[in-house]
Amino acid sequence: MNRIQKFEQVLGRCCWGILAFLAISVAININPAINIINLSKSDIMLIILIVLLSIFNFVRLKYINSNLLYTEKVFDVFRIIEVALLSIFINGNYQRIEHYLIIIPMIFSSLSRGRKSSFVLLGINAVIKIVKGFIVYFLSDTIILSTSDLFDYCIELVWVYVIWISIIIITSAFSNQNCKNEIENQRLVFELGEKYEQLEAAQNEIKIQYDKLKESNLKLEDSNLRLTKSIAEFYTLQQISEAIGSIFDINELLKFVNDVIIGVMGVNYSTIVFFDQKKNKLKVHFTNVKDKEDLAILSDNINCRFLLDILESEKPILENDVVPEKFEFIQSRVIGSFICIPLSSKSRKFGLLLIEHKNKNTFNNENLSLVTTICKSVSMAIENAELYASMQVLATIDGLTGVYNRVYFHQKFENEFKLAKESGYELTLVILDIDYFKKFNDTYGHLFGDVVLKSVAQMVKSSLRSTDTMARFGGEEFVIILPRTSIKKAYEKVEYLRHKIANSVITDSLVSASVTASFGIASFPETSKSVTEIIKDADNALYRAKDNGRNRIEVAKDYDIMD
Ligand code: GH3
Ligand code: MG
Ligand code: MG
Repeated sequence: MNRIQKFEQVLGRCCWGILAFLAISVAININPAINIINLSKSDIMLIILIVLLSIFNFVRLKYINSNLLYTEKVFDVFRIIEVALLSIFINGNYQRIEHYLIIIPMIFSSLSRGRKSSFVLLGINAVIKIVKGFIVYFLSDTIILSTSDLFDYCIELVWVYVIWISIIIITSAFSNQNCKNEIENQRLVFELGEKYEQLEAAQNEIKIQYDKLKESNLKLEDSNLRLTKSIAEFYTLQQISEAIGSIFDINELLKFVNDVIIGVMGVNYSTIVFFDQKKNKLKVHFTNVKDKEDLAILSDNINCRFLLDILESEKPILENDVVPEKFEFIQSRVIGSFICIPLSSKSRKFGLLLIEHKNKNTFNNENLSLVTTICKSVSMAIENAELYASMQVLATIDGLTGVYNRVYFHQKFENEFKLAKESGYELTLVILDIDYFKKFNDTYGHLFGDVVLKSVAQMVKSSLRSTDTMARFGGEEFVIILPRTSIKKAYEKVEYLRHKIANSVITDSLVSASVTASFGIASFPETSKSVTEIIKDADNALYRAKDNGRNRIEVAKDYDIMD
């Protein structure tokens, strides 16, 4: 409730007092002996005033409570109504009451709205008085007042107005002071409000800046974390790339990868599982599972549907809430989380990488993507290694006949000789040369000659053991390495081969013919003591076979195989 409303409220309450006073005044003036119809005009006017003022006061007190509608203008209107009502309706015997009553709204007006508003009320009162005087003068047939009474009345009025004006001036002085105080207060309140708003704005600005700073800080922390992770990932990938470039042995490389993953990711177990395409089976290739029982469970159950499906679909799995009983390969081990990523290239599925941690909720998608990148590099390294191995095999094979070439023969023979010497077993070398092959070529053409070379090579190879090695030594000459074979046994075998070749008919679409071959045999330790000696001795024996009529076998240094 503002100041004006408070004034109005006090006035409203006073008004009930005034009404009571007026009611008493009417009651005193009414003679109970006379009938109510004979009431004087001034009595009736006062009763009307009491009724109107009661309604007015009632409306006023209701209206004050509606804060929004109550303004200074409304206050002024209410005062005008009050003064007008009092000025109009108080007449005759009650004229003096007006002098006391009308000053009340004027004092309130002067206190709350200043001197000017009270003088307006005074003016209204004066106008109403004059109008009322004229109305009475013109409407009355008789002269109501004598000249002296009129003079007295005027003097009284002048006094009344002088007193009213004095009271108004005195009260307005309070009002002025009040107003000044109020203006000062308002100014201070306004300044305070302004300061408060500035403070609030500054506070808001600080909060905004603080929030921004906080956000930037969070972003910075996040970037820092990601940078640290990226550096760690980069370092890991770099280590693995370096290993791929420097470690040529694929098993050594896989062991290194396994160790790096355990070290960098801090996991409990890392296992590389290989897929055997021929048997369609998964097999543990490397693992850091050390406990014998755990390792047995892992190895026995690794070829399970769950892991085969991962390999088949080539989709990695991240399991952060592991129930060990659900996975056969875990069982006895305490595992809370695992990641399983396929090791595969476009052309082949190599196997899986299985990373396990004892705690639950250990891995996130970033771990998964890092390990997936590692697995891609490792898969590429495996593929390259396999390609390299197959290239190496191809480099050792003779393109025409499909048996090993001379380069491979020398490597292999040296290794076999070393083993034979170390282990003390016999090692026999056979050199085979097709007889009259030049003539054969000349007669049937080189293409058929090639068919003969292939057929003889296959004929011989198919009769050998898996431990034996056959190679093309040159042109139409072949060598056969027979480890753990004495010269006698070798002779028997070669005799069988000689017959087999001689009795075979080689055909192609146009020609069919037979060839014979001559053989020279040397053996460690029976005939020869070194690699070069055996080769030389076998070669010499072959020459002798040729010299002695071909399609025959000769043994080095005329060794007697009948002994
Ligand atoms: P010998 O009984 O004394 O061994 O007589 P030969 O004719 O078999 O021996 P020679 O060394 O005189 O001839 C070998 C021939 O083998 C010469 C060459 O044309 C032929 N030859 C060598 N390599 C190939 C080949 O890859 N394909 C064919 N068709 N012929 C070949
Ligand atoms: Mg030859
Ligand atoms: Mg020959």
